[in-house]
Amino acid sequence: MPGSSPMHSDTYYMSEALKLADAAKAKGELPFAALLVSPAGDIVLTEHDRVAELRDYTQHAETRLVKTACAKFGPDLTGYALYTTCEPCAMCFTTAWLARISKLVTGTSMAAVYELSGGQQREMPISAGTMNRMGGHAIELVELVLADECLALFEDADFGLHDGQVSG
Ligand SMILES: [Zn+2]
Repeated sequence: MPGSSPMHSDTYYMSEALKLADAAKAKGELPFAALLVSPAGDIVLTEHDRVAELRDYTQHAETRLVKTACAKFGPDLTGYALYTTCEPCAMCFTTAWLARISKLVTGTSMAAVYELSGGQQREMPISAGTMNRMGGHAIELVELVLADECLALFEDADFGLHDGQVSG
């Protein structure tokens, strides 16, 4: 691999994503965050949900990240790895798949967040693994990395709709 930065472990990159999710929560967003690792192993982009800030239910961390990455490095993101603190929804998975992301590493599961939120977290109930199998060109998928830590950030998160805020 070219470049001077060594590849780190999946746990290392996810721990960096966790910090971003925690920062998102401090800003009033739900603690969803993602980062992009280049083929050389560098963290080249980071994102978190901006649903509350932009009042837009589609402003998910992973979709925002991939669209920025396509503009900067794309359109073909072969060789790049996407780390996300929660299993991506159908929109985000499809965005990554279309951009030809090579590797997807996820923290907690969508089902776990749904359960913790008492069903308030609103997403299409289709797993990343199922979508990956359906796609025909599978992404290397590594699931449940630091899953407990990623889920724990949601324990006191506000999923509700109130005072004009939106959650997603
Ligand atoms: Zn999403």
